[in-house]
Amino acid sequence: DAIVKDEEEVQSKINIDDYKGVWVFAEQRSGEVLNVSIELLGEGRKIADKRGVELSAVLLGKDLDENAEKLVKYGADKVLKVDHEKLENYTTDAYAKVISDLIEDKKPEIMLIGATTIGRDLGPRVSAKVATGLTADCTRLEIDEEDGKLLQTRPAFGGNLMATIVCPNNRPQMSTVRPGVMEKAKYNENAVGTIENIEVAFKDGDLKTEVLEIVKSEKETVALDEAPIIVAGGRGVQTIEGFELLEKLSEKLGGVVGASRAAVDEGWIEHSHQVGQTGTTVRPKLYIAAGISGAIQHLAGMQSSDCIVAINKNPDAPIFKVADYGIVGDLFEVIPELLEALDNV
Ligand code: FAD
Repeated sequence: DAIVKDEEEVQSKINIDDYKGVWVFAEQRSGEVLNVSIELLGEGRKIADKRGVELSAVLLGKDLDENAEKLVKYGADKVLKVDHEKLENYTTDAYAKVISDLIEDKKPEIMLIGATTIGRDLGPRVSAKVATGLTADCTRLEIDEEDGKLLQTRPAFGGNLMATIVCPNNRPQMSTVRPGVMEKAKYNENAVGTIENIEVAFKDGDLKTEVLEIVKSEKETVALDEAPIIVAGGRGVQTIEGFELLEKLSEKLGGVVGASRAAVDEGWIEHSHQVGQTGTTVRPKLYIAAGISGAIQHLAGMQSSDCIVAINKNPDAPIFKVADYGIVGDLFEVIPELLEALDNV
């Protein structure tokens, strides 16, 4: 009840017309801006142009000059740069506080965040703090031609239908967006924009967590959504050893190994490699699908790849419908032949 009352109070104070501009949260990992943030700058640019407003990147962390410049070159009209030692590593309370304070101060109309582990944590906290709605895990964004509202589309009911959601009365309109589904912004060395340094101060009690140490997982992490080449295997790969064959091919091509859910469920490869609706959405330059039938939930995660090569022994496998090149054959014969051919290149 208290929350509803709070929301009503906030709503009654909101004048939607006060809110202007499109913001993109520029997420970094080990000092590098993530691809998803560059994708959101690409999408944000289109939306900002349609609305006739500025596109801003929100960059939090420490020693940010280089990345701030980079964001301008990727099309941000403005970078809101918050440089503070307490923001060097992501913590929910510090980041949510700084961003929600900024929103209350500057009133953006739209805020886009990558649906990464961090984005999925940050988005709801910020939207709750500023009492607005959030559409999680969007795969399409559009501006309604009639009323200028953001139409946020995401899979619903296990991917069986797509739901388009609007945020009618509150602002900003907030979305988290899946990595890999939007096109990256183009880099322009000569682009100009402003970088605004924002000073923040934390009071006692503002921050309830502190990062003491970062321990990297011993398992190699797979950056599926960042990989330009993916060699993915499905149930047709049959065993852990089968995946070693795919590993050889991906190594030779300079890519990473992906998998269907069937292969993950069989325990041949870890879930972090899964591509699809309940895995990662990818958009590499080259996607090789070996022994994968092409179920709709798998296609949802890879069909925007630039070039799809399918290897399957069933000529009627649905994967061939989305493939640019199809090889009908046994992957245990085709892949060794490919490896041999690559040796001779
Ligand atoms: P199969 O459908 O069994 O296909 C195996 C293929 O390998 C066949 O086409 C066969 O002809 C071929 N093959 C066999 N042997 C060989 C050989 N020696 N050489 C060449 N080809 C061979 N799936 C995902 O992948 N990702 C997801 O994120 C995902 N999320 C889901 C979410 C929900 C809510 C649901 C209900 C399902 C989800 N699925 C997901 C599962 C999906 O529906 C399929 O079951 C799964 O993708 C099938 O995996 P597969 O293609 O490897 O296996």
